Amino acid sequence: MNECIFCEIIAKRMPADFVYEDDEIVAFKDINPQAPVHILVVPRKHYPTLLDIKPEDAELMGKLILVANEVAKKFNIHNRGFRLVFNCNREAGQSIYHVHPHLLGGRIMMWPPG
Ligand code: 5GP
Ligand code: ZN
Repeated sequence: MNECIFCEIIAKRMPADFVYEDDEIVAFKDINPQAPVHILVVPRKHYPTLLDIKPEDAELMGKLILVANEVAKKFNIHNRGFRLVFNCNREAGQSIYHVHPHLLGGRIMMWPPG
């Protein structure tokens, strides 16, 4: 058993409600949703935090945005608006140390964020 929950989900050793999959990226519903639509967009490759992203990973990171756009369209929140959030390290509230943006939508979002 890998100690990273998201690596376990990607390997299909743990269940998740997948909404998108390709050879580099998966997206699945957050187990504890903070909005009507709350999807995690996750590279198959394990990076603990944003600080582990290197210049050669830039294309993959860009693809996370493209996938998030597709998922936002799939859930029909693209025109209303949505938020794409990366939490990095403790004060930002990162709890799973496998890089992932949260795609949040389906309600009005507050600013500044909590
Ligand atoms: P972070 O706090 O690292 O930015 O985001 C981690 C997210 O993963 C949290 O929103 C949390 O609810 C979600 N999460 C934690 N464990 C699981 C799990 O086993 N399955 C799914 N689908 N989401 C999880
Ligand atoms: Zn991982």
